[in-house]
Amino acid sequence: MELQDLLSALGVDQRQITGGPRIVRSPIDGAELAALTDHEPEEVDAAIDRAETAFKAWRTVPAPRRGELVRLFGEELRAHKGLLGQLVTLEMGKILQEGLGEVQEMIDICDFAVGLSRQLYGLTIASERPGHRMAETWQPLGPVGVISAFNFPVAVWSWNAALAFVCGDPVIWKPSEKTPLTALACQALFRRAAEAFGEVPEGLMEVIIGPREIGERLVDSPKVPLISATGSTRMGREVGPRVAARLGRSLLELGGNNGMIVAPSADLELAVRAVLFSAVGTCGQRCTSLRRLIVHDSVYDRLLPSLIGAYAKIPIGDPLVAGTLVGPLTDEAAADGMANALAAAKADGGTVHGGGRVTDGVPEGGVYVRPAIVEMPAQTDIVRHETFAPILYVMKYSDLDEAIALHNDVPQGLSSCIFTGDVREAETFLSPVGSDCGIANVNIGPSGAEIGGAFGGEKETGGGRESGSDAWKAYMRRQTQTVNYSTDLPLAQGIEFALD
Ligand code: NAD
Repeated sequence: MELQDLLSALGVDQRQITGGPRIVRSPIDGAELAALTDHEPEEVDAAIDRAETAFKAWRTVPAPRRGELVRLFGEELRAHKGLLGQLVTLEMGKILQEGLGEVQEMIDICDFAVGLSRQLYGLTIASERPGHRMAETWQPLGPVGVISAFNFPVAVWSWNAALAFVCGDPVIWKPSEKTPLTALACQALFRRAAEAFGEVPEGLMEVIIGPREIGERLVDSPKVPLISATGSTRMGREVGPRVAARLGRSLLELGGNNGMIVAPSADLELAVRAVLFSAVGTCGQRCTSLRRLIVHDSVYDRLLPSLIGAYAKIPIGDPLVAGTLVGPLTDEAAADGMANALAAAKADGGTVHGGGRVTDGVPEGGVYVRPAIVEMPAQTDIVRHETFAPILYVMKYSDLDEAIALHNDVPQGLSSCIFTGDVREAETFLSPVGSDCGIANVNIGPSGAEIGGAFGGEKETGGGRESGSDAWKAYMRRQTQTVNYSTDLPLAQGIEFALD
């Protein structure tokens, strides 16, 4: 389908995407997809004001009713999964299977949020005072600012938005400047759901387009009690303190540097398949991409040749073509970052397999690379740094404690895994002395999480949790309530305080 037809079918207004100075290009071939106009700072303020007004109405709508809106949005996503998935591929460059997977993740979180809308449970608490009842309830918080990264242009927003809407909060979304089209498409689909629902306050779902300065406007606004920001650790270091300076709340989802330990008893065939998906999938541009492989001495010489052999066969090219497993990098800067990292690894004594530019059999105008495997003598600084490209550093270990120490000795703490058939090793990895990450898997690669669990990581990854489990609590205000239904006024701690 032609791009214009695709965007029209998704309901995007052509006037929003033509005639402006912000040129959006497809990483597939550099073709111009749209020409947008950024929002002015005053327009961001107006969007925040609309969201603030919307909050006053939306918080009074019963949560299960709010869930009905999210259910209708999920239906729009189901009906448009193919089209939106294709747009994700065109604008971000991930292969179509992954574009479709991203939309499926949106549908899944909508389903989750619909159920949640009847389960925003609080607590009843035993009061020490007679004739008193204590409770803990969860109240809507207010407008939520969502800043998202280019690599998951729609799913990460939906993890936040589906929960925020059922929690009673409006959402103001600043997508990556590289991927505004998919955000506008989500807004158009949301508008349809809102029309079917009726009585959705204006301002419940706002999209603001522009560079980081536009995001900063959101970050600094005291009218936005929660900023959920996904992106690089550099961004988090800027956003976190700014939100803290106004004593706001932030939920940070930042860079990862994810590892896999391959133990002597591992099923090596399974491990190779898991490495392939998690290290080269999305061209190494997932926050959960596998970047470090820590392999036991005894299996190193069997695992490495299989991996190098598998890497040589990876189909690289147009992500819209069935069978392609690796699409383009996002831009030239990403390729430069990859080349610089490989040079640094070599200087540190690494042996590089692959990693060069690919120009044959790929669309012209895109930046295509062969994923790299780098055998490293040690975990040097470059290995400890997140390079957002398909580089897999491989290191050896001889005992599990050493492997876990190596695994944890990086500044990031997002996702991790061990491949082993030994229950003692698996449980040690999952124990308090094991992985220090927010996500820890056994016999599964570090990427491709399900929405049911809380997603996020420790250390420089920012500490935020979103998506499943009880992540919804971040989008609500906790209130401890005490009711006195007696005729007396006993004080807590038995304090006597009365006039004679
Ligand atoms: P980025 O940090 O360059 O940009 C992310 C978003 O932040 C963009 O919308 C950008 O405009 C905005 N931004 C940047 N500086 C800002 C500031 N000072 N104030 C307000 N907004 C600002 O990241 P990217 O290149 O788009 O994405 C790749 C990075 O994101 C990688 O590091 C990856 O690991 C990380 N990521 C993390 C997760 C996670 O859940 N932990 C998920 C996806 C991506």
